[in-house]
Amino acid sequence: MRIDLIVKAAALLSAPGEAIDHDVTLLIQNGRILDILSSSALTENAFQATRIIERPHGLVMPGLINAHTHAPMTLFRGLADDLPLSTWLEDHIFPREAHLTPDLIELGTELACAEMIRSGTTSFVDMYLFEDTIASVVDRVGMRAWLGEGIFDFSTPAFQNGHEALKETDRLMKKWQGHDRISITVDPHTPYTCQAELLQKSAAFARENGCLFVIHVAETAWEDRVIRQKTGLSSVGYLDSIGCLADNTIAVHSVVLSDEDIELYASRGVTVVHCPESNLKLASGISPVPNLLAKCVNVCLGTDGAASNNDLDMFGEMATCARIHKGISNNPTVLPAHTVLEMATVSPSKALGLNGLGRLESGCAADFIVVDFRKPHLMPCTNYMSHLVYAAKGSDVQDVVVAGRLLMEDRKLLTIDEEACLEKIASLAG
Ligand SMILES: [Zn+2]
Repeated sequence: MRIDLIVKAAALLSAPGEAIDHDVTLLIQNGRILDILSSSALTENAFQATRIIERPHGLVMPGLINAHTHAPMTLFRGLADDLPLSTWLEDHIFPREAHLTPDLIELGTELACAEMIRSGTTSFVDMYLFEDTIASVVDRVGMRAWLGEGIFDFSTPAFQNGHEALKETDRLMKKWQGHDRISITVDPHTPYTCQAELLQKSAAFARENGCLFVIHVAETAWEDRVIRQKTGLSSVGYLDSIGCLADNTIAVHSVVLSDEDIELYASRGVTVVHCPESNLKLASGISPVPNLLAKCVNVCLGTDGAASNNDLDMFGEMATCARIHKGISNNPTVLPAHTVLEMATVSPSKALGLNGLGRLESGCAADFIVVDFRKPHLMPCTNYMSHLVYAAKGSDVQDVVVAGRLLMEDRKLLTIDEEACLEKIASLAG
């Protein structure tokens, strides 16, 4: 039998918290995992493949899912650091965004994809401007993505007002409908950059089209003050009061939350995206993730954009996440390694509603990575799960496969001309 791709590896982690299988062979056919077999049980030449990868020191695991980013903001990396969120956004980011063009968006997205693939991310959820251009890059480089045109009340380089942004969302939805790796989401920016009517129209549109409603919520104490002055409610309470919290809501950040807010999230089935490094860098605070998990709220992990992180490495994000919650709670048992790994694999797949993403077994999407464990900082190899969260780096990822297609093989990107991309970025900076 002829197979598209065969991967032989030392170990397999099919999902966080599950036992490691040793000496495995994965058979990949038509973008899915056809079967996972024990290598020793295989007779020589039982299968023939177009491509065979052998990794005697590699662990195969589900590809990481970056549940919140703004891919083209790689262009602004390091341009405005060490500032409060409002100054950073209004004095530095918004003015620069006013000069963005589709060409720059394309270049910034390609850079982001190169960085994400190199650090083991196979899927990402993006909110930005000119998402059609971002979708074209994703289509070309082979990643999987959920993409939403940022909706604001004011004008942006991409459109004049929020209603035009919603129209653009509608156009994107029709254009990319049926694509096997690209989905369109509805993305009002925040409760303070969109009026109630626009938020409600966006929520209704998301509901009617059966897609995700993605919004930054309760990111800072400043936002909490502004929304309370305007409505008498918290950001979460306000969104609920106007019918914008439901089980298709992705509430990014969710730092400033009361117990009532957490109850609301739990009762409405809202998914939270935790972006610890961005929140730390902007001194916004730390989301009460252990309390959210205790109420069974689905919590995912995201990097946010590279202008506020400043990288898109989900391994770094997992390491930060696992440590800060122990530190601030004085409790080393909160957020164990398998929980943090879930936040980067299984939890986002639940929210994104794509069956068979975030775990590896027969019939699942062939979205996986191989991590090279023959490294000084990953030896002795006694506890793979611990090493993945507390010691591994994005640069330990050796191979990346999305929908059965190799995007990186032995650290070489196969779908991006990396040298040309870096050269263009360098000339931009010069
Ligand atoms: Zn964001």
